[in-house]
Amino acid sequence: MFEYAPAPESRSVVRLQPAYGLFVGGEFVDPTDGDSFTSINPASEEVLAEVAAGGVGDVDRAVRAARTAYDRVWGPMPGRDRAKYLFRIARLIQERSRELAVLESLDNGKPIKESRDVDLPLVAAHFFYYAGWADKLDHAGFGPGPRPLGVAAQIIPWNFPLLMLAWKIAPALATGNTVVLKPAETTSLTALLFAEICQQADLPAGVVNIVTGAGDTGRALVEHHDVDKVAFTGSTEVGKAIARAVAGTDTKLTLELGGKAANIVFDDAPVDQAVEGIVNGIFFNQGHVCCAGSRLLLQESVADQVLASLKRRMAQLRVGDPLDKNTDIGAINSAAQLARIRELADAGTAEGAQRWSPPCELPDRGFWFAPTIFTGVTQAHRIAREEIFGPVLSVLTFRTPAEAVEKANNTPYGLSAGVWTEKGSRMLWLADRLRAGVVWANTFNKFDPTSPFGGYQESGYGREGGRHGLEAYLNV
Ligand code: NAP
Ligand code: MG
Repeated sequence: MFEYAPAPESRSVVRLQPAYGLFVGGEFVDPTDGDSFTSINPASEEVLAEVAAGGVGDVDRAVRAARTAYDRVWGPMPGRDRAKYLFRIARLIQERSRELAVLESLDNGKPIKESRDVDLPLVAAHFFYYAGWADKLDHAGFGPGPRPLGVAAQIIPWNFPLLMLAWKIAPALATGNTVVLKPAETTSLTALLFAEICQQADLPAGVVNIVTGAGDTGRALVEHHDVDKVAFTGSTEVGKAIARAVAGTDTKLTLELGGKAANIVFDDAPVDQAVEGIVNGIFFNQGHVCCAGSRLLLQESVADQVLASLKRRMAQLRVGDPLDKNTDIGAINSAAQLARIRELADAGTAEGAQRWSPPCELPDRGFWFAPTIFTGVTQAHRIAREEIFGPVLSVLTFRTPAEAVEKANNTPYGLSAGVWTEKGSRMLWLADRLRAGVVWANTFNKFDPTSPFGGYQESGYGREGGRHGLEAYLNV
């Protein structure tokens, strides 16, 4: 195995302020009835900045700013003019992508290789894609002159902070809505840098408002009487609470929740390619991926061969400094998430599955978890049923395609699935039977702004991305 010299990305491109206010009505303001909290680098536990926590009054101020901007400026603005702002934001994201990527890795813990090569290009692509729709909504298939909803309340998680922001803000703005977005508590900093980009783009005041804070701030936003739409990405538990909160009102709701995807490998699959897909499926972004391929279903006749290759490949994964360009697996986002991963992994051992990790040295400070696989997993085990949201793979086996389908669908979730086989007919047969919003064939975790994404069952409802993603923000 090669030795790699350290190759750290410079963080000098990022100018952190000691403290950040809320972004309301086009300006950074101090909270009126809120508090503040610190954001840390999960790879070192270093404090990065102090961030404002918006209270009920602050949320109200932000919603009022969004309402005013909707009524007076953004709602009446022709689509071709909205498009110019979105294209400008997209270009600024590209111009400042290194700064955004370094800050994302600092605040979230994800490897720079991923924030630079996956997150940021997709963020810009989303703004470009929806900018293109802004003046073509008459031709989007929803009839002539589809109307926006009004003010959208948007709540996002910490695993893809900027990308989830893009998935929410780009379609909302393209369709003529204004937004109040609450980032996750542990990863607010890139959303605040995005607010600066909105200023730089001369986006009219109040079209985008960012209210930082914890769960209570999110709840205040969801429960505000003057929002027309709630878009939430996060856990199934909080999603259910939000569905209850808006039930009986005329607020529209989309939910993108958790998952427990099956990644199914047949005996005719190209093994090396499948192993890369398995690694990408569960170790990309430390496994903090709602659509992660966290249940590996191996056809029994090739199980030993695939597992041997997988273990060899896992021994080459480099875990460590997220800013090192060679790092494959970065830090776990928070102490709380690390505790949850440990608890579930311990449950896997206690329930009788066999745990394996490659030898790997973890840094002393920060939150770390070695890439881990469990074999001998049965469908009743907690690690086969519950979302771990970490670099932990549960391996099960099957004999026939019908058994693979049965096992893959044996979950309350339904966000994604992967199929590895040489036979096109088998892929299509499975895609018809798997209850999942996305089915990848001979690949995994591929995203594109033109492609709709969303779940079945406890993975939520509504679609983001593509033409379908427009519908969630239009009165159709
Ligand atoms: P979470 O606890 O549900 O948090 C998501 C967001 O909701 C955060 O901004 C959170 O604020 C906020 N929040 C918490 N309680 C709230 C409440 N009562 N009312 C309104 N907002 C509230 O989820 P997480 O642990 O951060 O994220 C991981 C989960 O998200 C996983 O289950 C994952 O599968 C899912 N996810 C799904 C998708 C998808 O597209 N389907 C994408 C990414 C993640 P704080 O962070 O400040 O607590
Ligand atoms: Mg942080």
